Amino acid sequence: MHVRIWGTRGSYPVARAEMLRYGGNTTCIEVRVGDACLILDAGSGLRLLGEALTNGTIPPAADFHLLISHTHWDHILGFPFFAPIYHPHTRLAVYGLQRTRSSLRTTIDNALSVPLLPTGLASISAHIDFHEINHDVSFELGRDVYITTARANHPYRALGYRIESPEGILTFVPDTGPFHTILFDEEFIVWKGSPPVLSAREQTILAQMQQAMIALATNADWLIYDAQFTTSQYIQFPHWGHSTPTQALEIARAAGVHELLLFHHDPHRMDTELAMIEATQQSLAPPGLRVRMAYEGMELRRGTEV
Ligand SMILES: [Zn+2]
Ligand SMILES: [Zn+2]
Repeated sequence: MHVRIWGTRGSYPVARAEMLRYGGNTTCIEVRVGDACLILDAGSGLRLLGEALTNGTIPPAADFHLLISHTHWDHILGFPFFAPIYHPHTRLAVYGLQRTRSSLRTTIDNALSVPLLPTGLASISAHIDFHEINHDVSFELGRDVYITTARANHPYRALGYRIESPEGILTFVPDTGPFHTILFDEEFIVWKGSPPVLSAREQTILAQMQQAMIALATNADWLIYDAQFTTSQYIQFPHWGHSTPTQALEIARAAGVHELLLFHHDPHRMDTELAMIEATQQSLAPPGLRVRMAYEGMELRRGTEV
């Protein structure tokens, strides 16, 4: 399993010099496993992946499986700028959460259509299939590559993905809050300064979601996990549905993960702050759990440092 990280930032892309060590592009990961090329999220990093495929910097591929965590802008804005979709030989299978309000195809088509962009899906030459999936499902994607999903705790819901093959296990949870303060669903929570009182039913659902999230990451070689907030930010914005590095570490520890990669960096966070957070979390990690801050350009191979 060979993983390349093309975008690490949350919310929106940034381009300040003081932020480029960890990267300015939003969430996008390429995973080569067996014969398959998987892409996790279509943030602005997807444009760089398309460029590298086109200019031969990385091995070519014509078949892609794009697994979308959710369709917030930072996770899809690279889609229309992914060069391979303008080649008729490209085949792209897009996976995302089934919604009641809009199909996955319609959401992407709307994002690409007038008046937001001129193209729309109709003018894209690649063959694109859309697959609407749910949380807590498993399916095979190519030979010996298995995908499992879990529900992340994020406004309007989101998915976490586990990619498992004989070559390794990667779990990807770019956007999730912790599982104790708020239960997110389809509606945006209006924050009134103190946590809502959770019903017994909501507490049960949250506990089940946390268990499913830990199962999703169990014994993973790498867990790429939302760590957007500092503790003080979390106290101010718990209704945004993001975690702190400490909360990420708790999940990684419970799941027996080998390496935790802190991800979805706050768009205001400077490189110096990210390096300090990384050092703190490394000092807190139990033996056997490696912790690093994900950075744009990072590569991971099972068992070897790249
Ligand atoms: Zn996000
Ligand atoms: Zn989001």
